[in-house]
Amino acid sequence: LKASVKGFLKRNLFVLFTIAAVALGIILGFALRPYNLSLREIKYFSFPGELLMRMLKMLVLPLIVSSLITGISSLDSKASGKMGLHAVVYYMVTTLIAVFIGIVIVVIIQPGKGNRDSPVANGGNIEPVQATDAFLDLIRNMFPPNLVEACFKQKTTVRIDLCVKRFQPQETVEEVVPVSGSSSGVNALGLVVFSMCFGLVIGNMKQQGQALREFFDCLNEAIMRLVAIIIWYAPVGILFLIAGKIVEMKDLAEVGSQLGMYTVSVIVGLLIHGLFVLPMLYFLVTRKNPYSFIGGLLQALITALGTSSSSATLPITFRCLEENNHVDKRVTRFVLPVGATINMDGTALYEAVAAIFIAQVNGMELNFGQILTISITATAASIGAAGIPQAGLVTMVIVLTSVGLPTEDITLIIAVDWFLDRLRTTTNVLGDSLGAGIVEHLSRKELQNQDAEVRNSVIEEN
Ligand code: ASP
Repeated sequence: LKASVKGFLKRNLFVLFTIAAVALGIILGFALRPYNLSLREIKYFSFPGELLMRMLKMLVLPLIVSSLITGISSLDSKASGKMGLHAVVYYMVTTLIAVFIGIVIVVIIQPGKGNRDSPVANGGNIEPVQATDAFLDLIRNMFPPNLVEACFKQKTTVRIDLCVKRFQPQETVEEVVPVSGSSSGVNALGLVVFSMCFGLVIGNMKQQGQALREFFDCLNEAIMRLVAIIIWYAPVGILFLIAGKIVEMKDLAEVGSQLGMYTVSVIVGLLIHGLFVLPMLYFLVTRKNPYSFIGGLLQALITALGTSSSSATLPITFRCLEENNHVDKRVTRFVLPVGATINMDGTALYEAVAAIFIAQVNGMELNFGQILTISITATAASIGAAGIPQAGLVTMVIVLTSVGLPTEDITLIIAVDWFLDRLRTTTNVLGDSLGAGIVEHLSRKELQNQDAEVRNSVIEEN
């Protein structure tokens, strides 16, 4: 018995550390709240958490590029085509299901019914954003004219960061800071598209492409070794990220009843999607136990909760899937970076709920066509949202303008967004990870064929 307990502890050491860190972070955060720390003090206090965010983000760029290039170049065109098709179908189906769940829940719960709790802060003349412009932005970002610039800049015409700042009362501007980050963040979509094409090309270059393939393979391996080091620090960072946020958060009693019900609607939707729908889908396709698969992902899910960023969580997601769940590296390298960039079920669900909530608050009856428009634009907005904190709030503008809802009403939901962001990010990471498991299962024949071909060619060479 002693040996098995020891074995269990050894295998789950990181997860146990991380869970303990979350618990400690919550306790520490609430213990410090009565001291009313100033913003500066909170910033100092959260510093270890900020360092974790920076370390993870540091790895994301080389990780996305190297994993996609090695992933795709190591597959033959038949396997990569099949895998790509499975992934895209999975992304579309699950995102649409998420939107559907969100709509059903917000229509049943009706969180925005009744007189509005809080007036909208005035003072912002927002230039209306055309959904077409936002859509063109999405396509535009797929083709960055300058690769170096794409590593630190995302071009967008949706400058909600400026708009939100303009109509926010002075003291809450701080809250909005993460949002503005999205317009200067990495253009992950552009890098994903480039890396996929690049991987495809060098994969077809046979002997000539060998040096490049080895280079990116080696780079990828080195980055994953760095992840293995950073993972030791993750629990400390998560502890302080969570504690800092709890110290900083506004008094929950200030949240009005409408906003409270809106929060409940999003949470219920995310729970149904994350704990029932996605696992069920995984089970139906693979016939394996989805919850033991999810157990292997705990560390990634907690990191998502702590960082509110699916991009920053990506290194840990890779590790969990490859080390704990033994998903084929050719699959993770291909589908995870793409998933973290475009597949955001949690965000899509939240966008649909938020838009309909705002319509309810404004006493606007939506017809079927408008609800359909919201479903489509919420899906597009989730694809366009970067995997960084509160990016979904930025792309909300697309959904609201598409049905003529006032964009300044985004201020109604800002107070609880930091919290919902964490939950939807966790759902996003869960969706990407289960997707990798499903794609691996569906592509197993192609992968086996390829293994056999490699074996045959080795035998022939010998
Ligand atoms: N923070 C989310 C993510 O990184 C995106 C969002 O704001 O919905 O997945």
